[in-house]
Amino acid sequence: MKESYRLTNDEKWVLKPQLYESSGGKCEYPSCEFSNYQKLTIHHVLPISIAIQLGMSREVINQIENLMILCRPHHNLADEEAFEGYRANTT
Ligand SMILES: [Zn+2]
Repeated sequence: MKESYRLTNDEKWVLKPQLYESSGGKCEYPSCEFSNYQKLTIHHVLPISIAIQLGMSREVINQIENLMILCRPHHNLADEEAFEGYRANTT
């Protein structure tokens, strides 16, 4: 069920170039200069699992305002920070 919320390859095909352009062609993490398009990944600012708990629709979760382009290490870091931030706000 959760899988259906993930971006399809077709959606990525459309969104990734837009994110890449708006980020200036690099990872959006502050001061990161990683610019290899193939290795950059699309990150959900509000993680999908949290957004589902909050009852958000697939469209809202996957709108470009909730997406960032990040290198793999910063993607992992940003996911951890998002979950920690969410826990901090709810406990
Ligand atoms: Zn980075």
